[in-house]
Amino acid sequence: MRTLLALILFSVQATASPYPPVSVQVRAEQVAEHSYYIPGLPGAASLQNEGFMSNAGFVVTQEGVVVFDTLGSPSLAWEMLQRIREVTKAPIKRVIVGHYHADHYYGIQVFKEAGAEIWAHQAAKFVVGSEDWRLRLEQRRDLLGRWINDKTQRFPTPDLWLSGDTDFELGGIHFRIRHVGPAHSPEDLVMFVEQDGVLFAGDLIFKGRVPFVGDADSRLWLNALDTLIAFQPKFLVPGHGGASDDPIGDLTLTRDYLKYVREQMGRAVENLLSFEEAYATTDWSMYENMPAFREAHRRNAFNTYLLMERESLRK
Ligand SMILES: [Zn+2]
Repeated sequence: MRTLLALILFSVQATASPYPPVSVQVRAEQVAEHSYYIPGLPGAASLQNEGFMSNAGFVVTQEGVVVFDTLGSPSLAWEMLQRIREVTKAPIKRVIVGHYHADHYYGIQVFKEAGAEIWAHQAAKFVVGSEDWRLRLEQRRDLLGRWINDKTQRFPTPDLWLSGDTDFELGGIHFRIRHVGPAHSPEDLVMFVEQDGVLFAGDLIFKGRVPFVGDADSRLWLNALDTLIAFQPKFLVPGHGGASDDPIGDLTLTRDYLKYVREQMGRAVENLLSFEEAYATTDWSMYENMPAFREAHRRNAFNTYLLMERESLRK
């Protein structure tokens, strides 16, 4: 009996997380023959969702696994790794970092430790140490200190800095990596899995919630959306919200939101309205009830206002 108990304890220990546990359910959903994604919870990062509000994906080939993004903490990434292990024992070969926002890459060390090589776009070099990047870490530590702390590696150096579009093949599956930044961020990468027709689009598309615009250039972002449409994907895994089997339809929401905010803020700048005045008098009712409106929208509008001011000075 004692031996049995010891055995059970040992096997529990062998799979126990070396990171502080999470109570959110991290599950994997298959979207095509080789492609899976981890659907995050809706809304912005909070104590309730334990920072689990972004998606990540993985593709299983005969020669190994390719991962796209690594969730918002090592604890969440560790859960993701367990879900991959339930599907395949193949080695984790590669991680593609879609972009360096906290909710998408703070789990990266888990996959590095699992032996994966990390690929990212070189534009991210300028992210490290930037004011935004530092503030974000502080904010995450304050909010999610239990999971994001001194042991969280903020910026493990990638094994390969990509300088542009890159295609590769693994286990007979063709991967097309496209640099579509600067859009949502300077370093935005998307990954298209040819055989599956699946596009991992990162934060270029926010399905079912107000996007986080940050300091993105929405004019360039609108161009990047055209690149995504050109893939003619059958399925699209966005950075937030459920996977879509109507990608073209879903691209529209992000596009229309960006266009609307640009139009409204552009008009305000033209009419020399202050931001406060413009914000208060604009009709936002069609976005008001969407998740993340309260957390993201006002700042999106403000950043767009500043952008439209700069654009008007260039005219
Ligand atoms: Zn982002």
